[in-house]
Amino acid sequence: MSLEDLYREIILDHYRNPRNRGELPSPPSVRMEGFNPLCGDEVVLYVLVDEESGRIADIRVGGQGCSISQSSASMMTQAVKGCTPDEARRLIHRFKAMMSIHEHQLDGESAGAATEGADGGDDDGVGERAGSTGDLGELEALRGVVRFPVRIKCATLSWNALSQALDEAGSPALSDR
Ligand code: ZN
Repeated sequence: MSLEDLYREIILDHYRNPRNRGELPSPPSVRMEGFNPLCGDEVVLYVLVDEESGRIADIRVGGQGCSISQSSASMMTQAVKGCTPDEARRLIHRFKAMMSIHEHQLDGESAGAATEGADGGDDDGVGERAGSTGDLGELEALRGVVRFPVRIKCATLSWNALSQALDEAGSPALSDR
């Protein structure tokens, strides 16, 4: 099975069996909607940040849309559940860096990312480090989306909603200047 096949399997698995699907009472959770008019995707996100632990105690997602948008949302909920808002913001940043790596260099110093081709076989480590997107686990399955710019908004929809939800939850931004 090629890496591309494996990635497709992961995406389809999350699309068919979405994790953390549903709703949470709001309040205390923050409800945030996201809509991608380009594709008709929608996500409804519920984020509960526990005040005592300061962590994302629960997160649920509803909505409908294409396999990219819905599987990305499912993977996101798995990735950030139990994280602090700061950790979640770091992950959002890294995921969006991965999604924009071919469009425009997000970080000025990541010139090395330009050499990261579609094959990506022998350059792990250096190439990934350049965009600081290593260790994204299953989220790597969405890496191929960058080759289809129109789908990038599908993949980032839920992540933008999470970013807004964390803002609304009142947590200080990671890099507040
Ligand atoms: Zn879509």
